[in-house]
Amino acid sequence: MLNIDEIQNGVVIDHIKAGTSRTLADVAGLDNLDCGVAIIKNVRSTKSGKKDIIKIEGEVSSINFGVLAYIDPDITINYIKNGKIIKKEKPVLPETLVNVMRCKNPRCITSIEHECDHIFKLTPSGKYRCLYCEEEFQKNKNLK
Ligand SMILES: [Zn+2]
Repeated sequence: MLNIDEIQNGVVIDHIKAGTSRTLADVAGLDNLDCGVAIIKNVRSTKSGKKDIIKIEGEVSSINFGVLAYIDPDITINYIKNGKIIKKEKPVLPETLVNVMRCKNPRCITSIEHECDHIFKLTPSGKYRCLYCEEEFQKNKNLK
C-alpha cells in the first residue's frame, strides 16, 4: 500500500498505467523542476493489477497536469497539504497546449521558423491538432 505520509506538501499522481510513468514525467517536465520527484513502478493495485505512481514534493503550480490526461486518461491527481490529501481530481484536457509537444510536419511553419511556438488545439473529437498546419498530434510519434 502506498504510504503518502512521506510527502508533506505536493502531489501524488496515482493510477498511472504501468510503464507510462516515465513518459508522464517527461511530458510534465518533472526533471526540470526544483522538486523532489519519486517514480514508483509496477505497484500492485487491486483494481488494475499493476500501476505506476509519481510523487512530487514541493511547489507544483507550474506543472501542467492537463496534458498528462492526454497520455493516460485514467490518472488521479492527489493534492497533499501538511501530509493529508486535500483534493483528488481527474485532470481535464486543456484547450491549448503551448510548447508541450512539437509538430513534426516538415512543411509546418514551426519546423521552419525556430522562434515559433508549438501550439496545439483540442478538437471536438478529443484530438490535438497543430494550430498552423492542422497536423494531428500522435502520442507515439510526436513525443520527443
Ligand atoms: Zn504544424
